[in-house]
Amino acid sequence: MKAAVLNAYKEPLVVEEVNISQPKEGEVKVRVKATGLCHSDVNVFEGKTPVPTPVVAGHEISGVVEEVGSGVTRVKKGDKVISAFIHPCGKCRNCVSGKENLCETFSQVRLKGVMQDGTSRLSKDGKEIRTFLGGGFAEYAIVGENGLTKVPDDMDLEKVAVLGCAGLTGYGAVSLSRIEPGDTVAVIGVGGVGLSTIQLLKASGAGRIIAVGTKKWKLNRALELGATDVVNSKEVDPVKALKEVTGGGPEVIIEAGGNEETIHMALDSVRIGGKVVLVGLPPANAMIPIKVASVVRGGIELVGNYGGRPRVDMPKLLELVRLGKYDPSALVTGRYKLEEINEAVELLEKGEAIRSLIVP
Ligand SMILES: [Zn+2]
Ligand SMILES: [Zn+2]
Repeated sequence: MKAAVLNAYKEPLVVEEVNISQPKEGEVKVRVKATGLCHSDVNVFEGKTPVPTPVVAGHEISGVVEEVGSGVTRVKKGDKVISAFIHPCGKCRNCVSGKENLCETFSQVRLKGVMQDGTSRLSKDGKEIRTFLGGGFAEYAIVGENGLTKVPDDMDLEKVAVLGCAGLTGYGAVSLSRIEPGDTVAVIGVGGVGLSTIQLLKASGAGRIIAVGTKKWKLNRALELGATDVVNSKEVDPVKALKEVTGGGPEVIIEAGGNEETIHMALDSVRIGGKVVLVGLPPANAMIPIKVASVVRGGIELVGNYGGRPRVDMPKLLELVRLGKYDPSALVTGRYKLEEINEAVELLEKGEAIRSLIVP
């Protein structure tokens, strides 16, 4: 099959023929319909998330089940499915206690780019090729069955691909922040996760929703999707603006930027007694100093959140799509063939895209 392979960090991807083996126990082979391109993929391409090469990335996968491994019961051949970027084992302590987004087994293999048995299903000329969270930039992908959710037959698979990361991460962030009706919330970052979060905050009854970003066209999209106010951090001092707009700071800040500047922005502007939910992922080894004393004195609740629970949250997200309360297609700014993937990467790196769909 064809796959977009990263042979070395910082090099363009090469679309080439690779071998894909059969799915093993608990695994499912999916014929890819569309895969969204996320910043986390680009972090791999640049070596900031150092998954060993050669590697096939792509983790917002939608497609049709082609073949199932032994013991698979959740899906069958021909099912339309969406794959979350998290593939829970279903058996570890976190999985059985309702926190499968933090699956301990999956966290051991995630950055090694292998399946849960420690091996890969892709190869070329006898050499193993790794995959990053699914390997959706290819004609087929093999994923653990617990990462998959059946998509209703009448739903367009291309439309829902971005639920796999952007949607699920937004859902997890809103869920963890336990919004009460009328709460004032700021969302820092208006990419795929930020724009999903804004829609889900609106669906959850948040009051003022303030979007913070640097690109006017993305902030305008945030307003269309439910933000009540926007702050352009290139044009004004965002901390001052957030405090002024809210009279002391937002009660909750969901930080989706994932860099030092935006994390400080969140901690400096949250209301005393408020909550900061970190969902943006900095490079794997980034060290970011914070003023601990103000977190203590302010009674700031500072929590990280990683994605959402595929088997619990994804069906709810699909229901919100069906009801028109969450529109994933509002995140999609382009559609590229597999052979055109490097163009899509360049556009994302320049900040000119939200989500590009890669279609094999
Ligand atoms: Zn687990
Ligand atoms: Zn992602």
